[in-house]
Amino acid sequence: MWEEPNISGKNGSGTIFFSGCVLRCEYCQNHVISKSYCGKPVDSDSLIELIKALEADGVHNINLVSPTPYYPIIIKALEKYKPSVPVVCNTSGYERVETLKALEGLIDIYLPDFKYSQNDTAEKYSFAPDYPQVALEAIKEMYRQVGLPQHNENAMMTRGVMIRHLILPNNIDNSYGVLELIADNFPSDIYVSLMAQYFPTGKETHSELGRKITQEEYEKVSSYMLLLGLENGFVQELEAADKGYVPDWNML
Ligand code: SF4
Repeated sequence: MWEEPNISGKNGSGTIFFSGCVLRCEYCQNHVISKSYCGKPVDSDSLIELIKALEADGVHNINLVSPTPYYPIIIKALEKYKPSVPVVCNTSGYERVETLKALEGLIDIYLPDFKYSQNDTAEKYSFAPDYPQVALEAIKEMYRQVGLPQHNENAMMTRGVMIRHLILPNNIDNSYGVLELIADNFPSDIYVSLMAQYFPTGKETHSELGRKITQEEYEKVSSYMLLLGLENGFVQELEAADKGYVPDWNML
């Protein structure tokens, strides 16, 4: 239920979390699954069964979270079975264009992060100095495939790209740079989801990440987004910066 309103809606988004993210962000709030391998093994047939079970629950979409290392299985599953609800690819943004091309026609909604505009920041926190360039090209390819967001009569997203950006404490210049890259490379009616949910997990090695973002940082970044003409999308409330918004992975 904690995705954007046009993804979660009334019935919820049918999330399937994949373990072992391609990035290693030191502040990861889902580090239990992103940095280790938990959960249960799936092949394309058992993935189809999971998808069908979520559909039977009445979810608005099938939401594949951090799916990158599993694309071969996912492609096989979606080629055999296309769900009746949209399929969401919920990704770090650190994707190869040629990999994304293999997903064309199978993914309806791309929900990529756009984390960094600065190479040194991307290296420092996620060990991926080329992230800004890689993510920008990846999101351009996503946009080429599915375009601007489209919605049904219930205001639920059915197709398109929505770009997420998480504001990090003491890093508003990085956020400004991300918003500028979005404004410079996509139409102004692109959807941006500005996320304020950052909280320290205690695993950060850089002391500047040791607190939540401030009201001032939040207001500066959200105002800059509007100043750039990016008026579509969502701005998460500061109250979302709470552990209560992170799923309890012990349930696996
Ligand atoms: S991209 Fe997201 S899930 Fe992956 S390590 Fe970074 S914060 Fe965690």
